[in-house]
Amino acid sequence: MRISGLVGSSLIDFPDCISCVLFLQGCNWNCWYCHNPQLIPLENNTGEQVEYSMETFKDFLDRRRGRLDGVVVTGGEPTIHHELPALLSMIKEMGYAVKLDTNGSNPRMVKDILDANLVDYIAMDIKAPWEKYRKICGSGANVDRVKETLDILKRCSIGWEARTTVCPSLDSKDLLLMEDYARLR
Ligand code: SF4
Repeated sequence: MRISGLVGSSLIDFPDCISCVLFLQGCNWNCWYCHNPQLIPLENNTGEQVEYSMETFKDFLDRRRGRLDGVVVTGGEPTIHHELPALLSMIKEMGYAVKLDTNGSNPRMVKDILDANLVDYIAMDIKAPWEKYRKICGSGANVDRVKETLDILKRCSIGWEARTTVCPSLDSKDLLLMEDYARLR
């Protein structure tokens, strides 16, 4: 698991928290509009980005005690990394709240970290109406897994949100349908 970016302070990424934002390298999808395409490969070979060691990140959190409330873990897609629970556990043990950003492709990982109380807030993308998913996210996108993750979030006891990127492939009917997917029944 590689850390390819760290925003030191944000007021907008974690509701009610002043947070830093940690970018993990690697994503299992390939959305055509991806705003961080350099984070898609597991290895960042662009030579453009700084890579942070885990020790550097821990030192950073140590120095920010009392000034930050939480850490946003994003990517890429954080749930592809089997080391994610250990990372979240380390952050929690240091006294920070954790927000996870996910594309919803790994329901098992999301359930495991919820069951282990390793996360305080989750933001999950709903990228498109189900039948348009692969058109936007690539052939690797498994809609059944996204649906499963959404069901897990609807039953969980922490704060969460569904969000999307409004791209030209989506029309207003699509957006209303996606809003309906996120409704609690
Ligand atoms: S899921 Fe997110 S990080 Fe992955 S390709 Fe799509 S927009 Fe990029």
